[in-house]
Amino acid sequence: MTGNPPASASRMTRSQMNSNLQMNGTRPVPASLAPGAALLSGNDPEGSAAPRPAIRTLFAALLLLAAAGCASPSPHPLDAFSPSAAAPACYDRATQPQTAIVDSHLHVRPFGGPPVPFDEIMGYLRETGVRFANIYGIGQMLPIDSPCTYYLDCIGTPVIPTLKNDFANAQSMLADPPDDIHLTLAMTFPDLSDPESVVAGIELLEDEFPGMFRWMGEVNLVKQALFGNGHVAVPRETIAAWAPFMRILRERDIPIAIHSDLGSEEEPTRFLPLMQEVLDRYPDNRVIWMHMGLSRELTTMPGADHIGLMESTLDRHPNLMLDITWRVIDDSYFSRAGEQHLYVDFLNRYSERILPGTDFLASSDKDFEVYRTELEVTSRILRFVDDEAFRNIALGENYFRLLGLDYEAPVVCGQG
Ligand SMILES: [Zn+2]
Repeated sequence: MTGNPPASASRMTRSQMNSNLQMNGTRPVPASLAPGAALLSGNDPEGSAAPRPAIRTLFAALLLLAAAGCASPSPHPLDAFSPSAAAPACYDRATQPQTAIVDSHLHVRPFGGPPVPFDEIMGYLRETGVRFANIYGIGQMLPIDSPCTYYLDCIGTPVIPTLKNDFANAQSMLADPPDDIHLTLAMTFPDLSDPESVVAGIELLEDEFPGMFRWMGEVNLVKQALFGNGHVAVPRETIAAWAPFMRILRERDIPIAIHSDLGSEEEPTRFLPLMQEVLDRYPDNRVIWMHMGLSRELTTMPGADHIGLMESTLDRHPNLMLDITWRVIDDSYFSRAGEQHLYVDFLNRYSERILPGTDFLASSDKDFEVYRTELEVTSRILRFVDDEAFRNIALGENYFRLLGLDYEAPVVCGQG
């Protein structure tokens, strides 16, 4: 049992909400204006408990009421990010959304069970002003006969790295590519403890979908949350055997986004040597460290210690970037009393090394409201960064540079 609502009820709520939003043509309501946002604050972006149906229905009604009476200015459309755009308008942080226009960490497939339909997720992006997104599967899936959509509901059941989600995503993009959202397709299949299979998988996807996969990740070096489902940390010796696939990634200019927990409350840097080994051994690969190494298993590290570690690692490894996705990071670190300013200062100083995103995971018990809330929460810290950092992180400049995309972030109005 998963405790999820019946799919039909959940789908009806979603489609009602989406059609209403499209009909109204309004913008999403900031979380601060959306009563009940706090009710969802325990929701886990990587797929655990969904909000209760009654709360969700109430929330949907309130959202629609608020949306109908609110006409906040739109974020820029996709073509405004083109360098050839005539007289590009500046971005007004006072009136336009404070949320990121890029979601570099979006799982459009779940661990198990049916996904939210692809075109519905495109609607979520459109409505929240997200114009660029990485399309992740999920690197590990529950067996097809599992009743679970989330691995923590089925402790003991192994989750297995598989190509299934990557195939499904490539097919979705071919079948119905949106013309107003730029998507980057990601390989999420790799089992980093089996490097030979990674090379084979890259070549298979390249044969089947030439040139479509421009990103690798999220892939797991060590993820403690999965220890109950058969995952073990990749042995340090195995990292040396990554050389063939890391070379392919370098040659094809494909970044690799790695989930690698720093450690636990008891041993905060227990696994740090694994990530250091990757960075030392492959200094010319573009590596993104997911969640800055943080997780539910490490929520009490002093911010100054964590920031110091991130700074020294970034300084030593110029091709490393950090992903600040997943609401656990905001809940446990960015919003921590007395320490928020430390992170704001850090993001300002290292603003060219940071990527934003939600870590939304599209299991069928999720809906538009969950996505909107996760975007709002994961973007919350960005309200406080300076204009240059906002442009680099929230308005996509880092993302465009990393992927060599022919787009340019707008200048923030009033920015020198
Ligand atoms: Zn993720």
